[in-house]
Amino acid sequence: MTNTSNVIAADIGGTNIRLARICDGLILEEVRHQADFSVLQNMSKLEAEQHILHTLEAAVQQLPLDNVQGVGIGFPGFFIGNSGVLAASPNIPQLSNFALAKKLSERLSMPVTAQNDALCAAIGEQTFGAGQGHANLLHITLGTGIGGGLILNNTPYTGESGMAMEFGHLKVEHGNESRLCGCGNRGCVEAYASATAISARYNELAGINTSPKDIYQRAVNGNQQAADILESASMYLGTAIAQAITLLDIRTVTISGGLIGAWDILYPNIMTALNANLIPPLQGKISVIPSTLQDNAGILGASKLLD
Ligand SMILES: [Zn+2]
Repeated sequence: MTNTSNVIAADIGGTNIRLARICDGLILEEVRHQADFSVLQNMSKLEAEQHILHTLEAAVQQLPLDNVQGVGIGFPGFFIGNSGVLAASPNIPQLSNFALAKKLSERLSMPVTAQNDALCAAIGEQTFGAGQGHANLLHITLGTGIGGGLILNNTPYTGESGMAMEFGHLKVEHGNESRLCGCGNRGCVEAYASATAISARYNELAGINTSPKDIYQRAVNGNQQAADILESASMYLGTAIAQAITLLDIRTVTISGGLIGAWDILYPNIMTALNANLIPPLQGKISVIPSTLQDNAGILGASKLLD
């Protein structure tokens, strides 16, 4: 192992920016920033781009940059292939065709690559986590939203528009009564099984506004409404996984995100719905595994983008 394999990896979330200096999958040191991207909503495209570049540049420069070969960024948005060009970002709608990697590279005078955050998590899980040894992997990120990343034959798959594996927007309910999703459509799995949706659905049922972690604790303590919401969310997840597997014929699915803390409730219900919705030859053949990387899947995956 040489120092030249040091990279800076960044995991950009809606409220947090996390950067780490990483060597061969080991996080050597890291910095975290509060980054409220909601301030971007009132900015022009150019102002928003400059704000993001300035924030990232300042964050990178907080880490020692000796022997660093470049920067890999996981960002919530759609990237065109491996170009580092952000085609669009659902949470920052004014951004389009933003050459994030190239512009940050010019500022930092070092190589920069950028890719979708969920795809980075898939790369991290396949390289260092629960997906190791699997040439084909579907990875699902369960957070405030639900993302998906796909590795096919050891290659991250982006799709032609950078929008492959928008797993959170698979339909699990139909009709006008189904829940409205942040994407504008109805019935998406994200509207039923994301952390945000679980809290909202429990609030509608029980009149208590609380976190998924607390809802899980209530379920463990025998609260039937809390258990019902978590069971239903996991059944919807299993249904959506079955749709993806029906198209992909992949045997291994990994799941990351804070909600996997409720794995003992999630897992049996995911598997029941998954097997009920798979074509018979695939029933019982699919492994669904929780991430072994805690919240590091995305940042470790971003560290591999420069390889
Ligand atoms: Zn949707």
